[in-house]
Amino acid sequence: MGRIVLEKVSKSFGDVEVIPPLDLEINDGEFVVFVGPSGCGKSTLLRLIAGLEDVSGGRILIDGQDATAVPPAKRGLAMVFQSYALYPHMTVRKNIAFPLRMAGLDKAEQDRRVEQAAEVLNLTDYLDRRPGQLSGGQRQRVAIGRAIVREPAAFLFDEPLSNLDAALRVGMRLEISELHNRLETTMIYVTHDQVEAMTMADKIVVLQAGVIEQVGSPLELYRAPRNKFVAGFIGSPK
Ligand code: ADP
Ligand code: MG
Repeated sequence: MGRIVLEKVSKSFGDVEVIPPLDLEINDGEFVVFVGPSGCGKSTLLRLIAGLEDVSGGRILIDGQDATAVPPAKRGLAMVFQSYALYPHMTVRKNIAFPLRMAGLDKAEQDRRVEQAAEVLNLTDYLDRRPGQLSGGQRQRVAIGRAIVREPAAFLFDEPLSNLDAALRVGMRLEISELHNRLETTMIYVTHDQVEAMTMADKIVVLQAGVIEQVGSPLELYRAPRNKFVAGFIGSPK
């Protein structure tokens, strides 16, 4: 569960090809970071995997099945949005249970999964509060909880920490890494922040203008950047 393969996947908006055909393999349980400057296509690539955008060409395989035409809700993936996407009028419990309610799960199963997620995320004492009564870090954990309860094959994060302050960001990075260690579920994490990429990733995918410049572990990219762009971006000596 959680192996994602892109075969010659491309994306154009109108006449503009923002992602020329690319191949990428993400292994089950890997923490993969898409990194690159603003506008390089990170979000678009993530949205293609999530099914929130249709590919212009190529195929997306999830656990060996062609998912290219499968609607987002049926791909078994969960996108983690920034914490401001929470519903302010709903309790934490209701926010976390929301996707399960939409999917029509029975109440007992909803409660079981919400309580399990709350325990993993240290939110047990906060289930009856509303987002406005939580700290920024707690709110971000609620947003992650909403993904966890779906028991996805992979988590997709699009710059989830970019509206948190610097100190909180460091803590949340550690929390997400810890969560990955605990769940051992595939995570794809988009960021423009090199430090985030280097500290969190098993595998980094460096993008420039929709093109993959290099794929490798943080150490591989640091020791053997393929070109000046990667070296400059990763901050290695080349
Ligand atoms: P990143 O997330 O790396 O900042 P994006 O994936 O958001 O980059 O955008 C990549 C390119 O695609 C940019 O040039 C952006 O303007 C363009 N783009 C993204 N979404 C759309 C859209 N819905 N319509 C037209 N162009 C888009
Ligand atoms: Mg983006």
